[in-house]
Amino acid sequence: MNATKLTELKNWMKQNQTDLAYISDPGHIAYFSGYESEPHERILALFVSTDRDPFLFTPALEVEDAQNSSWTYDVIGYLDSENPWKKIAAEIESRYGTPQSMSLEKANLTLDRFNELEKAFSETDFSTDLTPLIQRLQLIKTEEEKNKLMEAGSWADVAFEIGFRTIKEGVTEQELVAEVEYQLKRQGVMSMSFDTLILAGENAASPHGNPGKKAVAKNELVLFDLGVVWNGYCSDATRTVAFHEPTEFQEKIYNIVLEAQLEAQKAVKPGVKASELDKIARDVIEGYGYGEYFNHRLGHGIGTTVHEYPSLVEGNDLVIEKGMCFSLEPGIYIPEKVGVRIEDCVYVTEDGCESFTKTTKELQIIQ
Ligand code: MN
Ligand code: MN
Repeated sequence: MNATKLTELKNWMKQNQTDLAYISDPGHIAYFSGYESEPHERILALFVSTDRDPFLFTPALEVEDAQNSSWTYDVIGYLDSENPWKKIAAEIESRYGTPQSMSLEKANLTLDRFNELEKAFSETDFSTDLTPLIQRLQLIKTEEEKNKLMEAGSWADVAFEIGFRTIKEGVTEQELVAEVEYQLKRQGVMSMSFDTLILAGENAASPHGNPGKKAVAKNELVLFDLGVVWNGYCSDATRTVAFHEPTEFQEKIYNIVLEAQLEAQKAVKPGVKASELDKIARDVIEGYGYGEYFNHRLGHGIGTTVHEYPSLVEGNDLVIEKGMCFSLEPGIYIPEKVGVRIEDCVYVTEDGCESFTKTTKELQIIQ
């Protein structure tokens, strides 16, 4: 449980005249409560009041796990045969009375759930959005959070090692994914932070392609984009390696992306703007004439969720501060030819940054 952040949330609620907050994103629930769960279609919710104790609302089958987590307040469960919204409404009424205003995570709550809330609380105002506040709360990581991100990052390094040694002629992208995840899970990793992306040859030219039956062939590049969830914190890193000698063209593209990534990483320090970092990487790639093939932002924040605030993108003039954590992931994707991305997530220090992943970024040639 993160008592400091819960207090900050309550202070914000008081300032914004909202007497109840409904946290619905499972990653955010884990952030405040310390209870991690993926409830699928069932309801998992954290209700925080300005002046009374908060409570967790979970499927009945999760109550015991939630009680055994670091969460110290009440856990209320509901059975599959019960109507969760009726139960939530009754619980809130009995604990806090009818809320005047309930703030919601607008970037997360689905419309059908919102409709249920409106039905259950016809007199409550739902106009206050929690999303920007949670983004701000999560922006600066504590030392403890940084250590968890470091551990998650070192698991990504382990994953690269497994992946690189599994590459051989004829092995398919899916087989590589299966092997990486199998080995990690055998070593105690509970889950990946997103579906492992391993793409070979021209498939890597799609930034968010799907690993399939494509087999790795000699003189191709293979792109690994992966991460784990470890103690509630995510890693996310990308390496692109060559299987046997790369062509001159592949090597050239690789080195441009590497230069862009290193230049951006070198520029990270408190005071620089998010948009400036994006521009530094983009200028390198544009300078070589490949600007149109770097078709996404430079990076995104990372923490209990794999994509969070801030976005490192043109137009975001957020000033970088110590404690912020984000990815730096330039890429060049030339359809039917080549795809290269290199990604590290970093923690901003007093005068620079520290990377959560340490796997070398020099082009590795796997024989
Ligand atoms: Mn990634
Ligand atoms: Mn990323």
